[in-house]
Amino acid sequence: MRSIVEIIAAKRDGLTLTDDEIRFFIGEYAADRMPDYQMSSMAMAIYFKGLNATETGVWTDAMLRSGEVLDLASLGPARVDKHSTGGVGDKVSLPLAPAAAACGLIVPMVSGRGLGHTGGTIDKLESIPGYNPDVEVDTFRTILQEVGCAIIGQTAQIAPADKKLYALRDVTATVNSLPLITSSIMSKKLAEGIEGLVLDVKVGTGAFMKTIEDARELAQSMVSIGEAMGKRVIAFLTRMEEPLGQMVGNACEVEESMAVLRGGGPSDIRELVGCLGGAMVEIGLGISFEQGRQRILDSLDDGTAMKRWEQMIEHLGGDLGGMSKPKGETILKAPQSGYVQAIDGMEIGLAGVELGAGRKKQGDQIDPLVGLRIEALRGTHVTRGDALATLFHGERGEPDKTVLERLSSAFTIGESAPEQVPVILERVG
Ligand code: URA
Repeated sequence: MRSIVEIIAAKRDGLTLTDDEIRFFIGEYAADRMPDYQMSSMAMAIYFKGLNATETGVWTDAMLRSGEVLDLASLGPARVDKHSTGGVGDKVSLPLAPAAAACGLIVPMVSGRGLGHTGGTIDKLESIPGYNPDVEVDTFRTILQEVGCAIIGQTAQIAPADKKLYALRDVTATVNSLPLITSSIMSKKLAEGIEGLVLDVKVGTGAFMKTIEDARELAQSMVSIGEAMGKRVIAFLTRMEEPLGQMVGNACEVEESMAVLRGGGPSDIRELVGCLGGAMVEIGLGISFEQGRQRILDSLDDGTAMKRWEQMIEHLGGDLGGMSKPKGETILKAPQSGYVQAIDGMEIGLAGVELGAGRKKQGDQIDPLVGLRIEALRGTHVTRGDALATLFHGERGEPDKTVLERLSSAFTIGESAPEQVPVILERVG
């Protein structure tokens, strides 16, 4: 078998790796016998040369087996999770997990931190003082039994190879690779002991997949791997041009998620929660998608989802009453009058990272308070000087001028109103 360096060179040169080589490579990395720089180099080789379907399947399986596969059968049959490929302002998991639990599902959700320009569910939840996403499997199981849902971070027990590689890809420009996204998501999801999975595959400027064709290929790759492991998997391709909802950041996204849990909140988030949750209930309870969707929306409106949310936060040590407020605000004003025709999700996400809501290198501390609220959503007519966005200050105070310029350039203002566009684009599986 080739050595570590020879395996990297083989992928750099576009050769196919054998099963044994992939398992050896991942095994060495997971066991801390390989330095990060060799894995970074491999990730870049994969970014450029790809992995074929067989290699992707083996890479996923090796990552999955770097930890344990949970057996949650004793909790009941309706164990279904959801995962997003990543977007800007994508806080859907926060209201969705408790809503699905309120409908009778068990939702064992292992989530990630911010990745590239996109935000991470765990970073958002950690803006709640005391919230501890790093729990042992036994605690995870107990919370699932008592509440029906638990959102935790990657652990040393569940797909630890992904925990390391995910953090590495975040800061080495190797995130948007189809096989690396497939294996990252599916390795941790298949380790969760679920029966079914709903995938939200984002497509657009704010997503890792920029075209519908690439998003479709990613969805099919993940659905095939899940089905080959005996799981029911449904994927939706959903729009990620402008950010979702109005809030982008961490604490502010928790606030917006709670508005959704009160039966309000932005319509795009509510629509996604209804759609993705409807598919989760369809898988878990065997009823129609439409009935599932209605049950999810009812749980938001009747307070049962909120109750599960509060219980989950409390079980994981969080204190919702202790959340801090931003230290100040800066208004970003419209440079001209007209319709907001587009808001570039990628630019907004990168500005968020600059503000301190994401990381530029491993170990960076994020500031939970910084973020922004989009005041003029796509389609809004603004007059010169009107607010386009409100920026929230954190510990560092006022944002730099360069961030304001970047944010301003994210808004396209023109004379005509843009067409209405759907959020949900396509269903796969
Ligand atoms: N979410 C993940 O868990 N991994 C990725 O690579 C992208 C999104």
